[in-house]
Amino acid sequence: MTDPADLTSTDPAARMHAILPETVDTVDEVLDYARRRALGTDIPLDKAMTERDLFRLAGRTITTDGIGARRATAVFENVLAPACLTTDHPGYLAFIPSAPSKAASAFDVIVSASAVYGGSWIEGSGAVYAENEVLHWLAAEFGLPEGAGGVFMQGGTIGNLSALVAARDVVRRRFADEGRARPDRWVVVCSSEAHSSIKSAAEIMDVDVVGVPTGDDGRLHGDAVEAALDEFGDAVFAVVATGGTTNFGIVDDIASVAAVTRARGVWLHIDGAYGLAAMLVEGMRPVFAGVEHADSLIVDPHKWLFAPFDACALIYRDPAQALRAHTQHAEYLDTLTDAADWNPSDLGIQLTRRARGLPMWFSLATHGTERYRAAIDHGIRLARRIADEIAARPSLSLVRDPQLSIVVFRREGWTLADYDRWSQKLLDDQIGFVVPSSHHGEPVVRFAIINPLTTFDLLVKILDTME
Ligand SMILES: *Cc1c(COP(=O)(O)O)cnc(C)c1O
Repeated sequence: MTDPADLTSTDPAARMHAILPETVDTVDEVLDYARRRALGTDIPLDKAMTERDLFRLAGRTITTDGIGARRATAVFENVLAPACLTTDHPGYLAFIPSAPSKAASAFDVIVSASAVYGGSWIEGSGAVYAENEVLHWLAAEFGLPEGAGGVFMQGGTIGNLSALVAARDVVRRRFADEGRARPDRWVVVCSSEAHSSIKSAAEIMDVDVVGVPTGDDGRLHGDAVEAALDEFGDAVFAVVATGGTTNFGIVDDIASVAAVTRARGVWLHIDGAYGLAAMLVEGMRPVFAGVEHADSLIVDPHKWLFAPFDACALIYRDPAQALRAHTQHAEYLDTLTDAADWNPSDLGIQLTRRARGLPMWFSLATHGTERYRAAIDHGIRLARRIADEIAARPSLSLVRDPQLSIVVFRREGWTLADYDRWSQKLLDDQIGFVVPSSHHGEPVVRFAIINPLTTFDLLVKILDTME
């Protein structure tokens, strides 16, 4: 440990010299581990440990004098990291996996090392430029007009909330301009299959959610939205369509929903946190027809766009509307907010922000867009292939045909307890992480396929354990 006296020297060079040897060791220690982890080819799935076991193995690591970088790194590598699931393992198929490209993961280290502030143009213009290039590319892919733009938020939950806050702000202003009294309760309309984060956003905003029933195909259709708009009238400030439900990967009938929202002048938000990435695949575009009419949309790069946690691309058709809703005003910020610059902080619920879009920017710049399309297409094709295999096995049956890369099926005769036991053994054997889900109260099992390294053979091996 450095002598504190050296650190109080009035000579900056002496102060730097005092801490340099230790700093070099620390940085080397950390980057060496980062390199080992990034290049490791057989990182196990790992699994959670009890707090008791963690205490036994890791003990107390926060001490008065510090335990040093070597020991702290060793504790992380040998004890703490193995107690965290490897979400980018090819056998991780639960929830929505993550599969960051090595380019994106490695660049995340640079984002930290560079101490970039991504909230304002004057502080982070270079980073914001690069993030915007990605956002504009995505906006164009989704058919949004020039002028569309947005910001990388922490995740889909915050992205959805930010978009809905902007939507409500627009109608509040419209009511004020027209001198009309506000409704008692604002209403957001979505499908009964919409993600839980919409309900959570509504709770925070203190607005009501109307969950419209889907058709037999599991999709939200325009006629159902129209009925809700007839019932709730001007109280509806936004309609949310889902571009790939989390449980099944079902894409709403966005074109028919958009026809209704456009005719009524209601804000259309597309929650594509998981699934909208599939629109990058040429053959999938028709499934997403209507997205081009969105007033706002989200897609999570940490899901199917191969970026590390955590990043949600939030894009507005007219970013000026979001600026009005989200810009924070304070004396110490006036110098930022009075400038005509593009300040990402002003587009969502946040102020200080990490330039969390940069890992995706670097990976996309490195690999090019075609590699992205191919990697997403891999998931879609693999889902269809394993669905055929499931359909061909007498003891298994599909709950529905996969539309994107999520396959939901059942094992005949199994109860939830059977699924739980099987799931635990699969993880104990370090083959895969697959957890039960449910559909209309029936326990089912679900593969969410994101990782380009997940193979048909691995999925077949997992099915074999269900015989
Ligand atoms: C995952 C998901 C969300 C939430 O995103 P987070 O990044 O987990 O906050 C919202 N909507 C859909 C459809 C999702 O799949």
